[in-house]
Amino acid sequence: MDYFLTEDQIMIQDLTRQIAEEKVIPVREELDEKEEFPWEVMNVLAQSDLFGLFIPEEYGGLGKSGFELCIAVEELSKACLGVSTTYAANALGTYPILLFGSEEQKKKYLPDIAAGRRLVAFALTEANAGSDAAGIQTTAKHEGDEYVLNGTKQWITNGGEAEIYTVITITDKSKGARGASAFIVEKGTPGFHFGKKEKKMGIRASSTRELIFDNCRIPKENIIGKEGLGFIVAMRTLDNSRTGVGAQGVGVAQGAFDEALKFSRQRIQFGHPIISFQAVQHMLADMATEIEASRALVYAVARYIDSGARDITKESAMAKVYATDMAMRVTTNAVQVMGGSGYMREYPVEKMMRDAKILQIYEGTNQIQRNVIAQALIKEAAKK
Ligand SMILES: Cc1cc2nc3c(=O)[nH]c(=O)nc-3n(C[C@H](O)[C@H](O)[C@H](O)COP(=O)(O)OP(=O)(O)OC[C@H]3O[C@@H](n4cnc5c(N)ncnc54)[C@H](O)[C@@H]3O)c2cc1C
Repeated sequence: MDYFLTEDQIMIQDLTRQIAEEKVIPVREELDEKEEFPWEVMNVLAQSDLFGLFIPEEYGGLGKSGFELCIAVEELSKACLGVSTTYAANALGTYPILLFGSEEQKKKYLPDIAAGRRLVAFALTEANAGSDAAGIQTTAKHEGDEYVLNGTKQWITNGGEAEIYTVITITDKSKGARGASAFIVEKGTPGFHFGKKEKKMGIRASSTRELIFDNCRIPKENIIGKEGLGFIVAMRTLDNSRTGVGAQGVGVAQGAFDEALKFSRQRIQFGHPIISFQAVQHMLADMATEIEASRALVYAVARYIDSGARDITKESAMAKVYATDMAMRVTTNAVQVMGGSGYMREYPVEKMMRDAKILQIYEGTNQIQRNVIAQALIKEAAKK
């Protein structure tokens, strides 16, 4: 379908597609097998200015927005969700600075991020605070010109590899979620260590690691916004990034569909290509329809957010839920269309199915997204 992309947007799409085909597809199996961080691909993306897509020109970026980021993420996800997770998590970690950072912080950090010189990670989750993010226990104590951080963050994408971390902490326990504050912590700061590196079902090229803060002292200027704003920083960040997770769903589903379609035209059973059987045709028809519906929703929501809409929580949750549940169905059905071959590592769809599962979990599970959508509906109904 034609989404009336501008010339610039088509250029971004073509460029990322080319990188995905030439630089990602040839290495994705090896990266997955070895659980190896995709530094070479990240360097290519950096050289192509793709880290600067959503960063304003005044800070060295290309001055585009979330929609263009979705297009790039979709193309990378078609090839490898481990690579696209690494790239998208960098944006997730950057949003707190972009949306709430001071002018000094923007000038200090965004040019390096835009150039792909320094990778970013976003740290909210802890062992006892997953869906219940307000339950975080990592503390930041104000002492003179510094804050002292103590606590452990769990399952942080780009952990260990990133140079810059946006970290949500508690500065005032008595205030609950209103006592949270966000900080920038740089790799190499004394008292900041990396813990366990996770071994995962999928997205194995991406790094998922523990962050340990042990009397980690950072300058007080590293606070993002002000004390008490941490939970708002986290929630607004996720509102902005969730369409990117939807775009990941669209991409991985399209990648799996393309493989299944190709296979169904080549595989002969009962003397005919399996695509001649109606049961297979209907699966492919449903897959193609669901992918297009998800793409339309993700693009519409990304454009809505870029228009400057204020309340985007419900819409970004809808795009995430719809496109990622779709991705799990479509990648599973791609394996089904390909039968035993689909189950084998020789073909990429088994990896795509393993990879797709994470999309229903991270950046807020799809159950939590449904809670968010329902709460918004209840609020809207009460206003009528
Ligand atoms: C590979 C990976 C990468 C990640 N990257 C990051 C990162 O970069 N930064 C970061 O901060 N976090 C990251 N996370 C954490 C991720 O966001 C959380 O895993 C997610 O929010 C869910 O939390 P949980 O896993 O603790 O599940 P839990 O909260 O323990 O939930 C378990 C189950 O209960 C359900 N549930 C819980 N509460 C409710 C409720 N109220 N209503 C209905 N159902 C409910 C959930 O939907 C889920 O099915 C990552 C996780 C993974 C696995």
